[in-house]
Amino acid sequence: MSQQADIALIGLAVMGQNLILNMNDHGFVVCAYNRTTEKVHQFLANEAKGTKVIGATSLEEMVASLKKPRRVMMLVKAGQAVDDFIAKLLPLLEKGDIIIDGGNSEYQDTQRRTKSLEEKGIYFVGSGVSGGEDGARYGPSLMPGGNPKAWPHIKSIFQSISAKADGEPCCDWVGEDGAGHFVKMVHNGIEYGDMQLICEAYQLMKDALGMSHDDMSKEFEEWNKGELDSFLIEITKDILKFKDTDGKHLVEKIKDSAGQKGTGKWTAVAALEYGIPVTLIGESVFARCLSSLKDERTGASKVLKGPQKTSYDGDKREFVEHIRKALYASKIISYAQGFMLLREAARTYNWNLNYGGIALMWRGGCIIRSAFLGNIKAAFDKNPNLSNLLLDNFFRDAIHKCQDSWRTVVATAAKIGIPIPALSTALSFYDGYRSERLPANLIQAQRDYFGAHTYELLSSPGKFVHTNWTGHG
Ligand code: NAP
Repeated sequence: MSQQADIALIGLAVMGQNLILNMNDHGFVVCAYNRTTEKVHQFLANEAKGTKVIGATSLEEMVASLKKPRRVMMLVKAGQAVDDFIAKLLPLLEKGDIIIDGGNSEYQDTQRRTKSLEEKGIYFVGSGVSGGEDGARYGPSLMPGGNPKAWPHIKSIFQSISAKADGEPCCDWVGEDGAGHFVKMVHNGIEYGDMQLICEAYQLMKDALGMSHDDMSKEFEEWNKGELDSFLIEITKDILKFKDTDGKHLVEKIKDSAGQKGTGKWTAVAALEYGIPVTLIGESVFARCLSSLKDERTGASKVLKGPQKTSYDGDKREFVEHIRKALYASKIISYAQGFMLLREAARTYNWNLNYGGIALMWRGGCIIRSAFLGNIKAAFDKNPNLSNLLLDNFFRDAIHKCQDSWRTVVATAAKIGIPIPALSTALSFYDGYRSERLPANLIQAQRDYFGAHTYELLSSPGKFVHTNWTGHG
């Protein structure tokens, strides 16, 4: 086979197939390969019929079809499959060739692979790919990181096929080794948070206010025209009004147990590991865990009592607006926390992250796409060294405008017994972050009391002392 293909793509499941067709649309010749080679024939005869896509039924054949430096992208199941393909590709590639992993790999795996392949002269890229099937087909958000020497060779393909926001590609080089997959992981964590916040708004509308599904849908439609304009708000509007064949709202027939594939959990684990209070994503992961305990909850619901009053009897229209503001303020907190985690990882691994660029990458093509990300980009454009989003004037003022409503919602939900873990943890974080003095002095005293861990006096920074708190011994 002559060297005619611009890139090879391994993995003909939903993501791989769609990404190939997207590349083809943008004029690139792609060589398709899959472990189960029958899928190559099927793909060429069906979805890729009439395109310039070529196929290979062995890795040797695939590599021989590629222009140099060779670019091989994998969209296979994360984990062992990626290492297996790398091992098989290595004897077939030359120094300067590029391997790209577009799966949902853990960033530590990407760090390891980048390093070990660099030693062999192969440039490895771990790229976040977001937007699901549709994104892959018509423009995903792409977050490539790894060996920077690979970027000039893949930039034109990646930026052509990615989504565009305000005319700019939702794809740029993120940083070294695992940076791309780390940013994708935080993106997924933020997605968990956004979804949980919307669910809490829905429960408040439904249970505290007794709103109909059509009214809730209309409300989300309105919200989508303002500062909450986003893909998730938009699809929620559609979901809430969707009726089953019997005329009943389908959403109410769905079991209230949320699944998860793990990237939200990874973000929460990373937050704990780096000591960054990413509380909203953490609570969102736990909310899914609690939802999964359906049988236990059903049993407990018959035993454990809540407050007498379970609905809100004030002005309903006013309260809907309070919910909207509470959601918006909490969303600001969630993104501020996500960027705090990115900043800490960047510090740990010496990644030179472009935070405005990351906001732009998420601005289109992916599940968390929103107008709001344009505001985040603007904040980092104004001040690339911004230490925390909350300190940007735009977001500070937005929170100030929302906070009375936010407090009303959290207090009301607590009084009437509606769980709002994300909305309330966001408010607690806000109040903690803006506190010059927290009660951790007492924790230090307790630690010193029972474990002689010592404490630092405000009057003598850097000096640690121990006290015999009981006066004897
Ligand atoms: P998938 O179901 O995650 O993986 C299927 C592909 O992996 C098939 O090509 C399969 O080959 C191959 N594969 C599985 N185990 C293998 C092994 N042990 N050795 C070699 N090949 C193996 O496919 P997907 O949903 O298209 O996702 C691809 C990647 O993108 C995943 O990492 C996924 O997490 C990530 N991702 C998915 C989405 C989404 O919306 N689906 C969005 C973003 C990112 P066979 O046909 O031979 O079994």
